[in-house]
Amino acid sequence: MKLLKGTALYSIILGTCPICQNESMYKKRNPFILNQLFEMHDRCTHCNTKYKIEPSFFYGAMYVSYGIGVALGVAVFLISHLLLKTNLLVSFVLICIAVIGLLPLEMRLSRNIWINLFMKYDKKKSKKTSQNA
Ligand SMILES: [Zn+2]
Repeated sequence: MKLLKGTALYSIILGTCPICQNESMYKKRNPFILNQLFEMHDRCTHCNTKYKIEPSFFYGAMYVSYGIGVALGVAVFLISHLLLKTNLLVSFVLICIAVIGLLPLEMRLSRNIWINLFMKYDKKKSKKTSQNA
């Protein structure tokens, strides 16, 4: 993962601050702790970036979430129906299980993608803060 540091992919996969990538944006890193799925820090303690740049900022992540959900459903269908040769009903059940089971992960991923569309990694802020820490 160290190889990816500095790329948006690093922040998207790990849920780190999009600017310095030194700490997690979420209070609990595990997305499957459902009652704290959306609990985020207000600001990064390293670079002081405000995550929610405007009220209801993360509502836009719904559009990303929709795309991820459709992609996941299509992927499960292709694997189950075309590769494993299951019938349509079994494929449908598998799609439901995958989409519902991975929903917390999908929610986090969509938020991470959404915030990384608006903020870019800043090498100076990342180094400055890691030397101070
Ligand atoms: Zn930061």
